[in-house]
Formats: sequence, C-alpha cells, structure tokens
Amino acid sequence: MFMDLKEIITNSSKETFDLGKDFAKDLKGGEILCFSGDLGAGKTTFTQGLLAGLGVSEKVNSPTFVIIKEYQLDKKEIKNIYHIDTYRVEKDDIIDLGWDDMIKKEENITIIEWPEKINEIIPQKSIWIKFEHLSEDKRKIIFNYENK
Ligand code: ADP
Ligand code: MG
Repeated sequence: MFMDLKEIITNSSKETFDLGKDFAKDLKGGEILCFSGDLGAGKTTFTQGLLAGLGVSEKVNSPTFVIIKEYQLDKKEIKNIYHIDTYRVEKDDIIDLGWDDMIKKEENITIIEWPEKINEIIPQKSIWIKFEHLSEDKRKIIFNYENK
C-alpha cells in the first residue's frame, strides 16, 4: 500500500498516529527509516503510531534527551526497534552507540529523527519520510523510497 503512496495530508495528530500505525503493517525487518522535518512536524507522533502498530505497549517518548531508545518485540521477523534522535549529537556519537550493528541486522528496524545530521552514514536503501508543518493541525507527509 505505502509503496504507491507519495504524499498525504493529515488533519490531526491522531491521523498522523494512525498513518504510522498503518505504515507499520508493511514493515518486514531490516528497514532504516529517516524522518525529516522541523520541530513539531509530527515525526515522533508518527513513530508512536508505528510502534503501536508493531505491538509495542510501552509509552513512546521523544528520544531527544536520551538520543536512542530501544524497544523489543518477540515477533519472529522483527526483534528490536531503535528510535534515534540526532538533534543534540553528531555522526560520531551515533557510530559510538553501535550504528553499524544496528542497521545491518534484518531483525532490527532503525528510525532516525533529524537524519540529515548524519547523512554520511545513512545507507542508500533507507526509506525517507518528510514531515511538513502546513498549519496548526495539518501536516504534509511525503514518502520517498527512491533516494533522499
Ligand atoms: P516532531 O517529532 O517532528 O518534533 P512531534 O510529533 O513531537 O513532532 O509533535 C507534533 C506536535 O504537533 C504535537 O504536539 C501534536 O499534537 C501536534 N499536531 C497537530 N496536528 C498534527 C498532525 N496533523 N500531525 C502530527 N502532529 C500534530
Ligand atoms: Mg521528535
């Protein structure tokens, strides 16, 4: 479904959450998801929906202060989800957190907020989703599977 979807406008944070939840259905494991867009554009809200869709029951907060948050699933295909926020750090900090191992395993899903800060280390095969603030409650969400 999402492979055909280029962009969508959501009219509330619930719609963005639900979109993330739907998007999760297409995930198989091994994906690297890059969420770009300004503060308040909806990256974390979409991630919360996505994690709910994968069956994560714990509360999902923005990892701005912790840099990386790990969630575990006991599904066969997807075992770990890493939610990274590069806002306060640099590329080398992310490498030190075990980036190479994280992104190479098919049983992991890696989600990055502010991916452009670590552009150099993001693999070509990553899925980019761009979040744009249109008005107080409207966001445009653009899916890009080809490249950045
Ligand atoms: P980011 O992670 O991109 O900084 P967040 O998801 O943390 O953004 O915050 C988005 C904020 O905007 C939340 O306070 C949310 O309630 C609000 N909001 C309003 N409308 C929307 C919408 N359509 N989609 C997502 N968030 C929305
Ligand atoms: Mg955020």
